[in-house]
Amino acid sequence: MTTDPAMADELIENLRTWVRKEVLPVASDYEHADEFPEPLVEQMKEMGLFGATIPEAYGGLDLDTQTYARVVEELAFGWMSLSGVLNTHMIGANLIKRFGTDEQKSKWLPTMATGAVRGAFSLSEPDAGSDTKALRCKATPDGDTYVVDGTKMWVTNGERAGIVALAAKAPEGITCFIVEKEPGPRFEGISVSKQIGKLGYKGLETVEMVYEGHRVPAANVLGGDEWLGRGLRLILSSLELGRVNVASRGVGVARAAFEAAIAYAQQRETFGVPIAAHQAIQFKLADMATKVEASRLLVQNAARRIDNGERADVEAGMAKLFASETALEVATEAMRIHGGYGYTTELPVERYYRDAPLMIIGEGTNEIQRMVIARGLLSRYALEG
Ligand SMILES: Cc1cc2nc3c(=O)[nH]c(=O)nc-3n(C[C@H](O)[C@H](O)[C@H](O)COP(=O)(O)OP(=O)(O)OC[C@H]3O[C@@H](n4cnc5c(N)ncnc54)[C@H](O)[C@@H]3O)c2cc1C
Repeated sequence: MTTDPAMADELIENLRTWVRKEVLPVASDYEHADEFPEPLVEQMKEMGLFGATIPEAYGGLDLDTQTYARVVEELAFGWMSLSGVLNTHMIGANLIKRFGTDEQKSKWLPTMATGAVRGAFSLSEPDAGSDTKALRCKATPDGDTYVVDGTKMWVTNGERAGIVALAAKAPEGITCFIVEKEPGPRFEGISVSKQIGKLGYKGLETVEMVYEGHRVPAANVLGGDEWLGRGLRLILSSLELGRVNVASRGVGVARAAFEAAIAYAQQRETFGVPIAAHQAIQFKLADMATKVEASRLLVQNAARRIDNGERADVEAGMAKLFASETALEVATEAMRIHGGYGYTTELPVERYYRDAPLMIIGEGTNEIQRMVIARGLLSRYALEG
């Protein structure tokens, strides 16, 4: 499946205009107030973004991964949290799209495509992040339901979500359930026990959620009974796409930091010349732009492989690793170039500097990423005999 290139370019151009007009003027205010950007999210719904990769048959835009990656870059360029509102929703939607039964797709995808129902993805627990097999949240069968008990951590969009793709331990092993709930802090045995305070990535909630005797219909086992106990395989196979998402966010934040730096470097004068005339600053700008460009190319390479149905574990890992480290480095360099003004809350550079580190942690830390890349390389380059 490939998105028509002219249509993709038009979508990105419109999004870029929207970001410059509607997002950039207000992003830092929302972020500093840690306020959910309801009006911006409503406009994202109107643009159809919540259906970005959902098939047209279910009311979505059916974008390919390469175009979706460009969408994420533009949103993160404006404000990383907007891409966060969308990404976790799309992780849930993509799981349903790829593995759901026909009935499950018809039931959940149409309302997710319009954004009327928002999605969250809940794998991590207080004592299980990188080590996914250490999950403890339990799903105990009882008639035609499963009773869920346990604590899930770091659930982005968890409170406002109407659908949560939840990993829990059934007797057969870790299974992915689709939990349907009302948005809000409490719903039938599910409660938001903590709003997690964060360094950056503000304006959208990341929460701890406790399940106490919450009943999920057996019909909500993602993919049906054949996937009982195989939920981790199903979730991990979606992580390639998740890594491309995070890498694209990195490109967006890094590009924003670079553009702020190159503009400032031409305005700010020291010793009678713009600081852009100093070679030390020029070298920084050259390195920053080179790494942003390289990150985008790695993202597009991984995305193209996913679109072609090719294996992309190594490429998606490389894109995530390089783009997230680039975001961190470029945000830091942008702050240096801004001197003292970069440290103030009046310019967005401090926001990029606080947002960037999340990308080295989310969707598998970069230590785990290196393990994934190395494992893939060793299997590709295995010596014969
Ligand atoms: C703001 C935010 C939002 C998030 N949103 C979500 C969400 O929506 N849904 C969700 O399910 N999760 C979410 N997460 C969780 C995220 O995916 C985890 O934080 C991440 O996977 C790391 O797990 P951990 O925090 O438990 O760290 P740990 O696994 O405890 O790791 C701690 C450190 O040890 C290193 N480490 C671990 N194992 C190894 C090893 N074998 N070799 C070398 N080094 C190792 C790690 O790289 C890291 O440096 C979110 C996290 C944050 C911060």
